[in-house]
Amino acid sequence: MLSPPLSPRIRTNLLRWYDGNHRVLPWRAPELRGNAYAIWVSEIMLQQTRVAVVIPYFQRFLARFPDLASLARAPLSEVLRQWSGLGYYRRARQLHAGAQWLLAQAEGEFPRDFAAAMRVPGVGRYTAGAVLSMAYGLPLPAVDGNVRRVLQRLAGRALSPASLEKMAQSLVLPRRPGDFNQALMELGALICLPARPQCSVCPLRRHCRYQLGCGKTSAAMPRSAAVPVLKTLHAHYGLLRNRRRIWLTQRPASAGWMPELWELPEITADQCAAFGVRLRLRHAITRFRIDARVHPIRQLPQPGPGAWFLPAEAAALPLTGLTRKILRRLQFLKPG
Ligand code: SF4
Repeated sequence: MLSPPLSPRIRTNLLRWYDGNHRVLPWRAPELRGNAYAIWVSEIMLQQTRVAVVIPYFQRFLARFPDLASLARAPLSEVLRQWSGLGYYRRARQLHAGAQWLLAQAEGEFPRDFAAAMRVPGVGRYTAGAVLSMAYGLPLPAVDGNVRRVLQRLAGRALSPASLEKMAQSLVLPRRPGDFNQALMELGALICLPARPQCSVCPLRRHCRYQLGCGKTSAAMPRSAAVPVLKTLHAHYGLLRNRRRIWLTQRPASAGWMPELWELPEITADQCAAFGVRLRLRHAITRFRIDARVHPIRQLPQPGPGAWFLPAEAAALPLTGLTRKILRRLQFLKPG
C-alpha cells in the first residue's frame, strides 16, 4: 500500500495532468454533466470496447433514447437495433432491463446512493462507483481494468480486489471524485499502457514504485495479463434474393450468442461448395475473428425460420454487426 503522505501529491499531479490533457469525449460534454443516465449508458458501452468505437454509438443512442424513460419504454428489439455492431449484446439487454426497473421502482431516476444503485439490474460495484462519482459527486472509487493496472504499478505489486478498492477509496478526491476517477482511467488509457508505460511523461512517475524500480528488479512489478489472441472462425452465409427483398433469419431466443438478432442464413462449408463467393470479409467480435464468405444461393439448403425484407425493413431490424456490415458492402443497406 502507498504511504499516506504520498496521496495528496498523487491527486494534485494527476488532476493537473487530467485538466490539461484529457480527451474531449461526448459523454464529458458540459451539457451532460450531472446526467447519470448518459454516464451510465457510456459506462456500459465502454465495457470491453474501445473509445473510438463507442463514440458514434453513444451519440446515436442518446439521440434515439435521450432519457431513461424513453429507453425503458422502447421495445427491446429497437434497443438491440441501436446496439447492433457494438457487440456484447447482453449489455444492451441489461441496460434496458435496468431502465425499466428504475422507471417502475424509482420514478425513472438513477439512485443517489451506492446500496440503492447496486440493486439496479446489471449495475455492479464499478458502474455504481463511476456513475455516482461522475454524476452526483459522491466520493466513491471506480476500479476498472485501466485503474487496476495504474494502482498496482503505483503500489509496485499485485493487489487483491479488496486492496485495490481500499487503495482507490483512500485516493479518491472528495472535492472532485468524478474527475479523479476519470483521471485515473485516462492515465491508464493514454500513458500507463499495458505493454509499454510512458513513464517519462507520466505525472505520477515520482510516486510510482514500478517506475522507481525500473532496471533494479522486475519481481515487484505487476505485469498486465497477456492480450488474448483472437480465435479465427470460418462462416458461410447464403444470399437469397427475391427482386428487391432479401431473406433473413432470426437467431433463437435460447442462443448463447446474440439471441434474437437477425442475420443472413448460415450454411455449411459443404452446402456452399456448389456456389461462388460474392463477398468475403473479416469481422472481429469479442474474442473471435470471423472469416465470413457470402454465397449467392437460389434456395435455402434446408428449410428454416425467416422472412423476406426490403432494405428499409431490414435496416429497422436488430441485425448482427456482421450482417449489417455485409448488407452495407452489398449496398443493400445504406452506409451508416
Ligand atoms: S510512472 Fe509509469 S508505471 Fe508508474 S503510473 Fe506512470 S506510466 Fe504507469
